Amino acid sequence: MSSRLINATCPECRGPLTEISDGNVVEYQCLVGHRYSPEALLHTHSDTEERALWAAVVALEEAQNLVSAVSPHLPASARTLLEAQADKKTQQAAQVRDVVQQLSPFRTE
Ligand SMILES: [Zn+2]
Repeated sequence: MSSRLINATCPECRGPLTEISDGNVVEYQCLVGHRYSPEALLHTHSDTEERALWAAVVALEEAQNLVSAVSPHLPASARTLLEAQADKKTQQAAQVRDVVQQLSPFRTE
């Protein structure tokens, strides 16, 4: 049996992954014990990519809501500056949405 740390993290908990091989079977395991076959690791990683990008879309889109909530309590000069930044973030959210919609999961067949 051999094992080696690989330069990737567990798709469930982001802990470091170790490749474990007994000659016939290869699995990947993190520190807390999540285990994956090679195919399952790729499949689960694809889900992680999609979740991370949707989280980015939400963060960028809610920037507009935050600016709307906070701006009334700031000087007018800051409001103008923040509204321009929020508009830019809304545009970036749309760009990330496009990336998510074009995302392809790993396939082995
Ligand atoms: Zn894990």
